[in-house]
Amino acid sequence: MHVFGQIGWYEEATPDFVVFFVMRNFHDDMTDIAIIGGGLSGTLVAYYMLLADRYAQTIYVFEKEPLQLARGIAYRDSNENHLLNVPAAAMNLYNLPSGDFYQWLQKNTSTNYSPTDFVPRNLFGSYLKELFERQLAKAKQVKVKVIAEEVIDIVKEEDKLSVSTRSGHSYGVAKVVLANGILPPADPFTLSADVLKSGHYQSNPWNFRYLNQIKANQHITLIGSGLTMLDHAVELLNDKGNFSVTAFSRRGFLPLPHDAYEPYDFPEYSIVPGDDIGLLLRNIRAYYKKHKDKGLDWRDLIDRIRNEVPQLWRALSNESKKRFIRHLKPYWEIHRHRAPQRALDVINKAGREGRFKLLKGSIRKTEMKGRQLVIHLGGTQGTSTITTDYLLNSSGLQHDISLTSDPLLKKLLERQYMIPDQTRLGIETDESGALTCNSGRKNIFALGALRRASVFECTAAKEISQQAYLLSEQLIRSETNP
Ligand SMILES: Cc1cc2nc3c(=O)[nH]c(=O)nc-3n(C[C@H](O)[C@H](O)[C@H](O)COP(=O)(O)OP(=O)(O)OC[C@H]3O[C@@H](n4cnc5c(N)ncnc54)[C@H](O)[C@@H]3O)c2cc1C
Repeated sequence: MHVFGQIGWYEEATPDFVVFFVMRNFHDDMTDIAIIGGGLSGTLVAYYMLLADRYAQTIYVFEKEPLQLARGIAYRDSNENHLLNVPAAAMNLYNLPSGDFYQWLQKNTSTNYSPTDFVPRNLFGSYLKELFERQLAKAKQVKVKVIAEEVIDIVKEEDKLSVSTRSGHSYGVAKVVLANGILPPADPFTLSADVLKSGHYQSNPWNFRYLNQIKANQHITLIGSGLTMLDHAVELLNDKGNFSVTAFSRRGFLPLPHDAYEPYDFPEYSIVPGDDIGLLLRNIRAYYKKHKDKGLDWRDLIDRIRNEVPQLWRALSNESKKRFIRHLKPYWEIHRHRAPQRALDVINKAGREGRFKLLKGSIRKTEMKGRQLVIHLGGTQGTSTITTDYLLNSSGLQHDISLTSDPLLKKLLERQYMIPDQTRLGIETDESGALTCNSGRKNIFALGALRRASVFECTAAKEISQQAYLLSEQLIRSETNP
């Protein structure tokens, strides 16, 4: 391992690949690229650029949380009960042989996993890190420098970009890739000030340090009922002290379970893009009704539609997109983002033991009573009250960029380099991922969650890896044909 400069502030980290601290104040080369974020998205863009290795350039990868390098939030933690929500043999990355991760598992772990097993997520992180390091060692022309710093601003200066970090360093680059990933959910506006500052509320569901603050035998309430909630419920109910958990969401939908299905060959496939969401939904329903008795499993249909979501989404009118978000999105989410049965079994068992409860409703009012929080819920099925020791916001990703408190995104919005999309699902980008902005050249690109407004499905490894590959090709093309 080569380490340049001081890394004292993240001494718990043991990064075993190259971390460069660039001590110069200004580096300037017009082919250089800055990737902001070293999670799955940023690592894969760098990986595909290293793989192509077309011409001499430096790629800076900025990562503010070194433990997340080449892993990101999803694949960093070592909890063996945090499972991939995709079977091992289906966790594929674009342009890599199908089953590559599964083969890696067979070579690198002592467990005899089957292709349909849901394996711990950190194994996928180790695979990704190894993939990246291998390419880093092989590439002859492209160099990657990882900078363990937070980027807080980007300024367009004629045809280059100046990227500034929290410690005051600046880097001049030709292009920037925003791979800064998923944003934590915003606090519900109905939370009272005393709850917010009580020390009994955690707003960022991916800050697992909250577990140090809670004691055995406590009652924990989770906002949300999707995969993020399931992660926390499994953690609390499975391996920690004798916790009891209540989760709630507006509709009270849990993710549906994965199940193996026989692949269908989709004869007379008729689900085509159009601007009307009502018509699209009727087409999907009609196709399923006609084919389910001939062997079509709904999971297979959802997985098939998933591949075409960007085209289907782009074709919808803005009005249809808004109707989908308002009424249909929760149904799509539970069918599309399915959970391993093993995780659902944990909450079902805890439910039977009286340690897990799922309620329908949203927060009307909260208050502190001594050291406990009282949460008043309201919804279509009336009202209910939860008295709890700790409240965790596990309602999933925040997409409305105008609500962000992220310093870099706030700056980009202020400078009008970034425009929130009308649907409030992210920002405006063109088909290549370039930010649609009011000023200057298109030299800032985004991938991953930030692009949800233009492609809708873009938060899973499959979609992210495809975006990363296409973006790397675009970056290489624009350099060879400026
Ligand atoms: C808990 C969880 C489980 C998941 N499980 C699966 C699964 O099983 N299968 C699947 O296909 N998908 C899964 N996903 C979805 C998907 O794979 C991830 O969301 C994906 O890894 C996102 O990667 P990312 O790099 O875009 O974002 P992130 O993982 O959020 O990484 C972004 C990185 O950028 C850094 N960063 C942000 N801002 C700055 C800045 N200004 N300066 C420097 N660094 C910055 C952050 O520290 C972070 O490390 C899961 C997601 C989550 C959250």
